Amino acid sequence: MSLIVQKYGGTSVGSTERIKAVAERVIQARKRGNDLVVVVSAMAGETNRLFKLAHELSDAPNPRETDVLVATGEQVSAALLAIRLEALGYPTVSFLAHQLKIATDSNHGRAHIRSVESERVRQALGEGRIAVVAGYQGVDPAGDITTLGRGASDLTAVALAAALGADVCEIYTDVEGVYTADPNIVPGAKKLDRISYDEMLEMAGLGAKVLQIRSVELAQRYNVPLVVRSSFSDAEGTWVGQGDRSMEDILVSGVTLDQNQSKITIAGVEDRPGLAAKIFGPIAAAGIVVDMIIQNASADGRTDMTFTVARDDLRRAIELVKRVAGEIGAQGVRHEDPVAKVSIVGLGMRTHAGVAATMFRVLADERINIEMIATSEIKVSVVVNAKYGELAMRALHDAFLGGASNVVPEMV
Ligand code: ASP
Ligand code: MG
Repeated sequence: MSLIVQKYGGTSVGSTERIKAVAERVIQARKRGNDLVVVVSAMAGETNRLFKLAHELSDAPNPRETDVLVATGEQVSAALLAIRLEALGYPTVSFLAHQLKIATDSNHGRAHIRSVESERVRQALGEGRIAVVAGYQGVDPAGDITTLGRGASDLTAVALAAALGADVCEIYTDVEGVYTADPNIVPGAKKLDRISYDEMLEMAGLGAKVLQIRSVELAQRYNVPLVVRSSFSDAEGTWVGQGDRSMEDILVSGVTLDQNQSKITIAGVEDRPGLAAKIFGPIAAAGIVVDMIIQNASADGRTDMTFTVARDDLRRAIELVKRVAGEIGAQGVRHEDPVAKVSIVGLGMRTHAGVAATMFRVLADERINIEMIATSEIKVSVVVNAKYGELAMRALHDAFLGGASNVVPEMV
């Protein structure tokens, strides 16, 4: 008998029909003798709908009240699932965050979990009940409702699994697992049987939407095995867990594309200590995340600095940079055509040379110009003109994941 935490996303609980199907799945697992804790998201579209209502009434809705509002989505789906399970004769009890409790700081809209008290869940399980928990929400020290950030029902599930010492945390969604690339862009993308936390973290950070990134961090920290699978089929899904030696034989596990990047260049910056701090300080203070930065080798004591930000932040970033550029006597600020960041991720890069070189060769063969490069131990990212983002992704997927070429040949 195992303790299983299951999490169902918005499309999985998107209608009463879907909730009936979820209840069947929960019951199957229960019939196999497992203890079940089920975390639910709001019904598909509901959280967006609630945010929209708030914005119809205010340009800047009060954060505390917004959390009171948007947390209701999960309350509805938790109650509906519990109602269905009870109707089918399975003793069930639903919990909101303050009833457990899932304690957070007071950062409304993106609160951090401080602790999870799981006593009431344990008690319910001890009484033979199924526990259904509303995802995405918490409670702050004052007893006010908080939310944990968009997509954070995953985080609720992992936090509960960690607190309960669950055997597995199953994340049910509308795709069959983690893919080698977005199947909407790369038709040949394949579902992965397993992937390491490190790779999943990189992929989530690079735009793969299947798991919320903080939930992967937490799973890794507490060593909670995750399974991502579809609530619409019985396919096996993808295991996310500790990497092992055998996984290093795979050079590239995934190719990601982030089309939401913009590039800014400050030209003719004097090459002396303190200027990068002057440029990036105000940007950071404004809460704008800078992704990649390159500084050219200097000529005549001046250098160019190029960096990328999310497209939504472009206008604000340019205003800030123009101001600083004036102050420090830089020669100009320009922002270029939209760019895309294409990345390859794989544990095998730790131990095998030449992966980046192969990547550059593949892009060269497609005549795609590389504008920026960044690497980490298990990732290579390039920035290219946005027009070629999808082409780059397909070419790289073909080269690394199209056939057997991705597997390192046995060493002799
Ligand atoms: N309902 C929340 C959202 O849409 C949380 C979640 O679905 O994970 O962001
Ligand atoms: Mg989600």
